[in-house]
Amino acid sequence: MSDGSTPYQPPQTTPEARSPDPVRQAPVKQPPTNQANTKQALALQLSQITKAYREGGNRLEILKGANLSINEGELVALVAPSGAGKSTLLHIAGLLENPDSGSVIIGDKAAEKLDDAARTLLRREHIGFVYQFHHLLPEFTALENIVIPQLINGLPRSEAEERARQLLTYMRLPNRFDHRPAELSGGERQRVAIARAVANAPRLLLADEPTGNLDPKTSGLVFDALSTLVRSSGLAALVVTHNMELAARMDRRVTLVDGKVRDF
Ligand code: ADP
Repeated sequence: MSDGSTPYQPPQTTPEARSPDPVRQAPVKQPPTNQANTKQALALQLSQITKAYREGGNRLEILKGANLSINEGELVALVAPSGAGKSTLLHIAGLLENPDSGSVIIGDKAAEKLDDAARTLLRREHIGFVYQFHHLLPEFTALENIVIPQLINGLPRSEAEERARQLLTYMRLPNRFDHRPAELSGGERQRVAIARAVANAPRLLLADEPTGNLDPKTSGLVFDALSTLVRSSGLAALVVTHNMELAARMDRRVTLVDGKVRDF
């Protein structure tokens, strides 16, 4: 989307509109990772993450001391075979699942030191998710799908609607505000889903095969929208993909080998 249009500025929530921040704490020192230029602000730091599941009588060790750091404004591809632990890593980074051990830091907040309510708030305010399936609310329009998470986050409706219009326009969907998901194409739905994921101006975007259901051309267009958004807003993004062409266009590529993150 390099047409000279104004770069997207993430909506800034006014201090009054935000709920009091119970998760503020002292900055945490950098973990010993082999990744990310730590001179820039880190949006995500995963340090020594372990995770095992029980299946029948067996213990499956999926993550065995995984480290991953992502800077603000950085777009990182996670490419690994099925079953390697990509979704597990994403869920842990997104505070949807707890690791067995290790540390998850979003910005300067260590999730393991927070209670459930504070973790939920941290997730709601600082993390956006995009999945392979759009998961838009079918009975609501594209605009409403982007307004709703902002209302939940405490924004006034007029401000939330203005942001939603801005984001949909930025995602090249200025004529789709009032369309319901069933009235949109697959690529359009994913662009709405991306707009929804960043509606609350998160620090970190986690995407699990966001273009996995799309044809190659649409996939490229959706990826263009995603990468332009990340690069113009200072958002950090971790994108699971099997598409090596898209992975090649990201800033960095990582994989999972024997439960650890490796650059490749
Ligand atoms: P990927 O996303 O790379 O395909 P996943 O993170 O989904 O891999 O899963 C990694 C492994 O962990 C798989 O073998 C999967 O069966 C197992 N697994 C994932 N979630 C659970 C769970 N809740 N209970 C048991 N095993 C699980």
